[in-house]
Amino acid sequence: MIRAKIYITVLWLSLHYSAILNAQPAVESGIFCHEFCDADSVLFSQKNVTPESGFGISGIKANIKGSCLDYFPGIKDDLLASLAYFPELTHIRIKVTYKSIHQTMNSRPSPWNVFRKKARRQYSVIINNNEGKHKGLSFGELSSNIKTGWFGHELAHICDYEKMNSFETFWFAFRYVLSKKFVRKVERNTDIETIKHGLAYPLYDGLAYLLNNSETDSGYREYSIFNGLSLSEIKCFWCKYRLELKRNSDQSAGRKTHE
Ligand SMILES: [Zn+2]
Repeated sequence: MIRAKIYITVLWLSLHYSAILNAQPAVESGIFCHEFCDADSVLFSQKNVTPESGFGISGIKANIKGSCLDYFPGIKDDLLASLAYFPELTHIRIKVTYKSIHQTMNSRPSPWNVFRKKARRQYSVIINNNEGKHKGLSFGELSSNIKTGWFGHELAHICDYEKMNSFETFWFAFRYVLSKKFVRKVERNTDIETIKHGLAYPLYDGLAYLLNNSETDSGYREYSIFNGLSLSEIKCFWCKYRLELKRNSDQSAGRKTHE
């Protein structure tokens, strides 16, 4: 009887393990950008570019709540500005809180999501109050552009969580806590997703601010440099995806002409 239970457990773990590996191919792949980039710096640094999705803030039905909204009255607008670049998260439920964490900001699924239907899931976006051991950037001093980029990175994480079931989320968290290599892959992929969603410049602006801010905790700065994309990589991936988008639209225009 005990042996049968062990076999069933091993079988169940193997099936889930292979499902997880299939579900996270992007995280496992290498991240390189060696494309030639004749980036138009004026175009790259254009502020308030309309999201390519054509999706406006007025169409967002997200449920945003949390104690942090009292500390920073404009924060909801900054989050909405980022959400406009993530049409797949239109109806998301987000709780924004202000407490001590390791980074400037992070995001995580609510543990209660295990008992919720997918449409009812809730996520937390946590901002460091810098009252603990680890200091991030002082959130109130950041420009709206930088906040939009920072929120964009967290929303890109949430896009990933949305694709996982409860077991995959647990396994993801387990690996994230135990493996520095995994953290680096996840964070760099999340930066790429942020760029793909149209927020390359806000992301770049935030990193440049972090690198030039001498008051930032050196440990946190090293963590960000090691785990995230560099300034030149952000530009490189921006170029790469613009070229890909152009190629795809040229191809579909060519197909329409031949039809
Ligand atoms: Zn992150």
